Amino acid sequence: MKVNLRIPGPTPCPDDVLEAMGHSMINHRGPEFKELSVKITERLKKIFETKNDLLILTTSGTGGLEAAVVNTLSPGDKVLVVSIGYFGDRFAECAQIYGAQVIKLDFPWGTAADPDQIRQALRNNPEIKAVLVTHNETSTGVTNDLEAISGVVKGEFDKLLLVDAVSSIGSIPLPVDEWRCDVVVTGSQKGWMTPPGLAFVSFSEQAWKAYSQSKIPRYYFDMKRAKNYYERGQTPWTPAVSVYYGLDVALDRILAEGMPNIFKRQARMGQMVRDGAKSLGLSIFPREEVASNTVTAVKIPQGVDAKQLLKLMDEQRGVVMAGGQQSLEGKIFRIGHMGYCEYDDIQQVLDGLKATLPKVGFQPSAVGR
Ligand SMILES: *Cc1c(COP(=O)(O)O)cnc(C)c1O
Repeated sequence: MKVNLRIPGPTPCPDDVLEAMGHSMINHRGPEFKELSVKITERLKKIFETKNDLLILTTSGTGGLEAAVVNTLSPGDKVLVVSIGYFGDRFAECAQIYGAQVIKLDFPWGTAADPDQIRQALRNNPEIKAVLVTHNETSTGVTNDLEAISGVVKGEFDKLLLVDAVSSIGSIPLPVDEWRCDVVVTGSQKGWMTPPGLAFVSFSEQAWKAYSQSKIPRYYFDMKRAKNYYERGQTPWTPAVSVYYGLDVALDRILAEGMPNIFKRQARMGQMVRDGAKSLGLSIFPREEVASNTVTAVKIPQGVDAKQLLKLMDEQRGVVMAGGQQSLEGKIFRIGHMGYCEYDDIQQVLDGLKATLPKVGFQPSAVGR
């Protein structure tokens, strides 16, 4: 049975992407790598809609977030971390571990951040240097209104804005320059139809200014080092060459489809998942106005064993979904639909749920449609 991998990353990859990764090894300090790396970086900048520097690090998304922190902050800096879930908490933890003084603005899991409360927090703490925020909270299936948040953070207070866009950019609109985001981070295994291994980090003029004052020690993730090497067509350390080859093909596909079409497809896909789940009598975890178009969190019905549901979906239907994280364990399950995902893949999930839910004690209804 072909596995329908519907976790929110790593996501499935097209065959030509996987085949491209079988390329023989090359000299990572030679002209071939330089050409590959420049070609990839230029296209990523287009997708990020940015003229800022964009550097590719060999690491996962979290490594990219760590790079955002260690290249802009100093121990003792006051930062505002806006958290609406597990990944927001992770960003806060990272800043805290490096000595930043974290002021945490938490919103209930399943809701989006309220820009008014961010404004209030910035008014109350004028010494805040940076605001750290998750664009798309993968743990709860919620997309923040980053444009409105940036309007406050940049437009009204002109603070440094560090964005976890790991599960959004490339799938959901995030025009980096228009929204004045200083550091934006994503990872190759999310919306990019590419295996894990690379993080893409855009870095603004203002971020470089912060870099020059930043006192957190850094080595592997030093952005200046990465930029200097990039200018010679290299990376400071051995890059995940194979993933570059895969990404090269994935970017061809992405740009052939075109960003406006991808955004439309993602929106339709999100709607299809939500409508489909509701038509089975299930409820979407967040309010629909803030529901993500890359990952959908669905409430586990009363009395249903979440683990059993996921296990049967996997074993009997070939559909691999994710459970809830931390306080949401056993309360939700999540369906990833970013990157390489067709309507048929979603239909298979919905058909699978319809057949499986009765086996775990829930009678799917035909209500709501
Ligand atoms: C997946 C994810 C991360 C972590 O990325 P890793 O590649 O697992 O390190 C961080 N933030 C968000 C929003 C994510 O979806």
